[in-house]
Amino acid sequence: MQKSFVYRLYPTRKQEAEMAQMLETHRHIYNDALAQRIDVWEAARNTVSYNDQSADFKINRRYNGFLARTNFSSAQRTLRRLDRAYQAFFRRVKAGEKAGFPRFKGRGRFDSIEFTHRDGCRMLDSGRARFQYVGDVKVKLHRPYEGKVKTMRLKRKAGKWYLVLSCDLGDVVPVKRPIEREVGIDLGLKTFGTFSDGGSMERKRFFRDGQAKLRRLQRRVSRRKKGSKRWRKACAAVATHHFRIDNQRRDFHFQEVAKLVTAYDLIVVEDLNIKGLARTRMAKSVVDAAWGQFINILEFKAECAGATVIKVNPAFTTQACSSCGSIEGPKGQSGLAVREWACSCGVTHDRDVNAAKNILRLGSSLHERIGRIAA
Ligand SMILES: [Zn+2]
Repeated sequence: MQKSFVYRLYPTRKQEAEMAQMLETHRHIYNDALAQRIDVWEAARNTVSYNDQSADFKINRRYNGFLARTNFSSAQRTLRRLDRAYQAFFRRVKAGEKAGFPRFKGRGRFDSIEFTHRDGCRMLDSGRARFQYVGDVKVKLHRPYEGKVKTMRLKRKAGKWYLVLSCDLGDVVPVKRPIEREVGIDLGLKTFGTFSDGGSMERKRFFRDGQAKLRRLQRRVSRRKKGSKRWRKACAAVATHHFRIDNQRRDFHFQEVAKLVTAYDLIVVEDLNIKGLARTRMAKSVVDAAWGQFINILEFKAECAGATVIKVNPAFTTQACSSCGSIEGPKGQSGLAVREWACSCGVTHDRDVNAAKNILRLGSSLHERIGRIAA
């Protein structure tokens, strides 16, 4: 199993200058390789492969001082990155989707490079990270990393530096816990999520405040003259703010996920890839993205903890009565205004708890079916 660990780096001024130069060199490698692909295509309708470009790089670095100072395998990883961007582009073209062609990276727009561990870089026993030409950089190890370090990624975000360690934890197959405690979650707008047992995850106020502030900062960017000093300053403020909201949101997700995987053995959520009838109209892309991230973290943490996550099609989970199964739903009323409704069978439902109960029922039976097939 692979696991990533992210740490903040505190380089000295000199180290930072060297790291920035490294990113800049990699940006050139990326852009030059992209230009070559375009040239060859326009001149000869031919494609250049990753292997061609890797071989070219080997030759070029004999004559170019900057390239000579660049770690070979990290440069290969950058060329691979371009190759992946290319292949993704062609895949989208084939699938008839909107296909953005791989772009040239502008100055300051190339923010990460990856190294193979012990090839131009390594983690020291002192806890510092050693990079060739940079030196031993201070790392804030706020928690220990586990397993064997495979790659080290150097990353710059909103003016700060990070180290991403990708570690191999070996063949640990976590044992699944037997299922005793189950929960269904209806992802919502009023609360972040409502549980089938009546509990909920509150929507934190700072997200809404954060979004409002973000819009304000974005308006400021659009008012200023593009390319000016004041414009650049406004852009930096947007980036910093984005970064802060992202961090707050991620922290919130991790906290909620930790509670869930401790409290429940089976956790059922809606499959966001299936467009639910219930929320097409009101869903905001921002909210959708947050749910997606939440479910990713949930799946990952559940696997580590031995809990089971099941995703189900959310169609009709709002309309169906969790007591009698009829799908009359909240008749004549629709939208978010309806918090409570009474089914003709006589049961009164909280809209979200009822949906969560339906989600749990679907997930429970799906899980049983999977178990029967596996047995
Ligand atoms: Zn009913």
